[in-house]
Amino acid sequence: MFLRELTASPDHLKGAGASTVKTLSLAGLTCIADLLSKYPRGWEDRSKNIPLAEFAKHDNVCTIIKIISHDWIGYGKNKTLKVHIQDDTSCAVLVCFNRSFLANKLLIGASFHIWGHFTYRYGEVQSSTFEIEAADSPLFGKILPKYQNLKLNNLYRRFIKEALAQYGTHIENELPDYLIEKNQLLQKTDAVRAIHFPASIEELNDAKKTLVYEELLFLELMVGKRSLARKSRNGKQQHDKDTNAESAPPPYSKLQKRLLERLPFELTAGQTAAIDDINRDIDSNYAAARLLQGDVGSGKTLVSFMAALRTVDCGGQAAIMAPTELLARQHAENAACLLEPLGVNVAFLTGNIKTAGRNHLLKALVAGEIDMVVGTHALFSRNVVYKNLSLIVIDEQHRFGVTQRQAIMAKGENPDLLMMSATPIPRTLTFTLFGDMDISVIHDMPPGRKQIITHLAKESNEKKVYDFVGGELAKNSQAYFVYPLIETNEDMDLKDAQSMLQHLSEDIFPAYKCALIHSKLDEDTKRDIMDRFRKGEIRILVATSVVEVGVDVPNATVMVIEHAERFGLSALHQLRGRVGRGEKQSYCFLVFSDQDTADMQLAVRPELLTEEERTIAGKRLMTMLENNDGFVIAEKDLQFRGSGQIAGTEQSGFTKIGIADPIRDIEILKIAREDAFSMLEHDAELVLSENKVIAEVLKRAPPFGEVGV
Ligand code: ADP
Ligand code: MG
Repeated sequence: MFLRELTASPDHLKGAGASTVKTLSLAGLTCIADLLSKYPRGWEDRSKNIPLAEFAKHDNVCTIIKIISHDWIGYGKNKTLKVHIQDDTSCAVLVCFNRSFLANKLLIGASFHIWGHFTYRYGEVQSSTFEIEAADSPLFGKILPKYQNLKLNNLYRRFIKEALAQYGTHIENELPDYLIEKNQLLQKTDAVRAIHFPASIEELNDAKKTLVYEELLFLELMVGKRSLARKSRNGKQQHDKDTNAESAPPPYSKLQKRLLERLPFELTAGQTAAIDDINRDIDSNYAAARLLQGDVGSGKTLVSFMAALRTVDCGGQAAIMAPTELLARQHAENAACLLEPLGVNVAFLTGNIKTAGRNHLLKALVAGEIDMVVGTHALFSRNVVYKNLSLIVIDEQHRFGVTQRQAIMAKGENPDLLMMSATPIPRTLTFTLFGDMDISVIHDMPPGRKQIITHLAKESNEKKVYDFVGGELAKNSQAYFVYPLIETNEDMDLKDAQSMLQHLSEDIFPAYKCALIHSKLDEDTKRDIMDRFRKGEIRILVATSVVEVGVDVPNATVMVIEHAERFGLSALHQLRGRVGRGEKQSYCFLVFSDQDTADMQLAVRPELLTEEERTIAGKRLMTMLENNDGFVIAEKDLQFRGSGQIAGTEQSGFTKIGIADPIRDIEILKIAREDAFSMLEHDAELVLSENKVIAEVLKRAPPFGEVGV
């Protein structure tokens, strides 16, 4: 039988009475399969003897000790038992808070097994967190599993052991034998037993590897099947050519050539390669789904315009969707300026466009008079109908939810999809998150960009920062000041954009025009402010993180982020990317509050601190100081926060699988992916055995490439 087929109730287990069955069922464990799939959260290696003398070298001591004497400290209710113990190597003290009853158990002269965390305090080696059992206890001399709920630990240990004995001896492999052999995995029966009760650390590691691999293989098989299904769907209009990835890049189309001739610069190698990929997509006979990743400022917009032009050359319409009106407008203006001279009809559509103009626009869209439309989520409002929507570009894709992406995809018939992301998604995650999409990455930057110089500054040193900004303003540059709050909040001792606008414009930079921008302003006001900032009328823009996304003002050379410790790393990276977009040297100041980050004074001179001494906040800001590459920053962010919290992946559910963690298990994931794809190559119809965990994962999150199907 397969593990999942062990559907018998736990009341078949020896010794399991009604109350045990109830407790297990309350914990969601209603059958033997559930119980055996309740993987431990950790393990305690009690197989090796760690004597008292080595307490400092290990988290826990694990040895046999002898009780020497009892001692009491404090009085009355607060009386606490101290037990003096010793082994062959040293002596120590057990401090038994609220465990006075131990006085009757730990009799002087008797020997016990001890498992405990010892530290040196008040001149003696002490432990207050320890487990102590009879010298012949079965809880020692082996590796013990620890489950989710520490209280239930012993219950789980007992009945999982029983379940293994009664049902676990003949669990059938779900993996084909050749994969088990090739990857040196355990038989399923052994893996399930060893994950709970390993005979050695080596066996435990093999069991983990086996179960992780199995999950990831199923996941990748699902992903691979979906990807094949998409590519075999022949719903798209034919552009007769059918190229494959190995052949020479397809030649540029007419409009593409004309745009390139008009550009004042050359494409970067990364842009060229991405455009080649996309051209192949558009020429192919399947609905393409591609993720284009490129750091802030790498020039993704132009790539999307090139994609749109090829689509238009093929007689289709293209839609470019951006998450904010600000950004959509910026794209629309760029498109108007670059593409209209080529004879392309560009339209701009947001929820804000007034009725008269809107009706006209909608008619033109359905009549096919508009080639390319740029806008916000208004692009997929119910009354927006396209004549022939063949390409959808989603900029800053992580800002959109799955349903929004689905809604826009539904506007065309198997349109090509290009998603763009400047929040670099760590390579390690793209495998699963976007596993059924094709991926292009722009690794290079347009030439001539200078590295942004980043400084950390203490809040109390901010005058120096202001002086520096003053110097830049005097050189005709512009600056951003970013705050975590829009307005004063009584509960938080934080600077806010509104009050700081007043302070900066009245007290610090009275000679320069300052303005405020944040998400609560209406769109007209935002647009007006951005226009004036772009033109240089406004010299200082005081903002919240609304400026994070995509805003492009090359003359801005300073970014000051106050309370920087409050922002996520990707947000900081995006914010920093607002400067350094022109020829001039740019600067970013990360101002941190003294009280929140006491160690920061030292962190500014990191050589004075060891890794452990830096706080997380300190480490995060140091990461910004030490790295400019968004992908590296994203990987570090991942390490600090865990995979579940990377921007845009929370809703995906893809990061939480049963025992596997795609980040931690990336090496196994790579192998599983290869194996899965080669299995599918030989047998595309492969029927997957029902894997409960994977089925759950997939129910929660359809892979992105599948949107709109
Ligand atoms: P992002 O990838 O962050 O969306 P943008 O598309 O906004 O970046 O491009 C940033 C800036 O770089 C724009 O001002 C754009 O005109 C410019 N740019 C794009 N490609 C090149 C290139 N090959 N050479 C020089 N400048 C470029
Ligand atoms: Mg962009």
